[in-house]
Amino acid sequence: MVVVLLGPPGVGKGTQGARLAEGLGWERLATGDLLRQARREGTALGREAEGFMDKGELVPDDLIVRMMEERLDSLGPEDGVFLDGFPRTRAQAEALERMLPRVGRKVRAVLLFEAPDEVLVKRISGRRHSPDSGRVYNVHFDPPQREGICDETGTPLVHREDDRPETVERRLVVYREQTAPLIAYYAEHEAPLLTVDADRPIDEVQENARRVLTEALEQSEGAQ
Ligand code: AMP
Repeated sequence: MVVVLLGPPGVGKGTQGARLAEGLGWERLATGDLLRQARREGTALGREAEGFMDKGELVPDDLIVRMMEERLDSLGPEDGVFLDGFPRTRAQAEALERMLPRVGRKVRAVLLFEAPDEVLVKRISGRRHSPDSGRVYNVHFDPPQREGICDETGTPLVHREDDRPETVERRLVVYREQTAPLIAYYAEHEAPLLTVDADRPIDEVQENARRVLTEALEQSEGAQ
């Protein structure tokens, strides 16, 4: 069972995906998190990816597809999985279609999160993350208890290099040009494309996402 999370940078895919995964006991594979981890560990993948990431560009498809193939292979057969940040291009979506049957899975739904650009820019500018727990905060909407400090680990929070205003603009353009066409791609896919208004408070977005997803999964189970 695979559910793809789609939407522009800053829309809250990470936050919502983490909560959905926790609620359902599913895995969440977030390509951005995996790439940042590879960079911290100084692996060959991390070194190849860093220049693209810091400029707000996409990392080449072949690197991403190889990384995801390995991750999907290592999941247990029963695990449900949310894909967060993958696929991001048509070539990646097609590669995903080719690799899933091999691991006995298929895309059961696509959750599309939407919000206006000015909301995305504000969210991204306030975003801070904990380098060791990976937890993401927002100084405007979801601050930690002590300013600048992770609630879970007590480490100072950091502002992602690619969350700086110069790069955010570019990431939004890249989303529109390379990732948004996947909306039309998945609209024609057998799995339902479910749209969630992400310009709402975090808890409300979560409730709506969970409701539409549960309904769609129940329907697709009923149809089998
Ligand atoms: P994210 O944390 O999802 O915003 O991703 C951060 C950065 O990682 C992106 O701006 C890209 O440079 C890179 N990245 C993440 N996922 C992908 C992907 N599926 N394809 C290409 N690049 C990606």
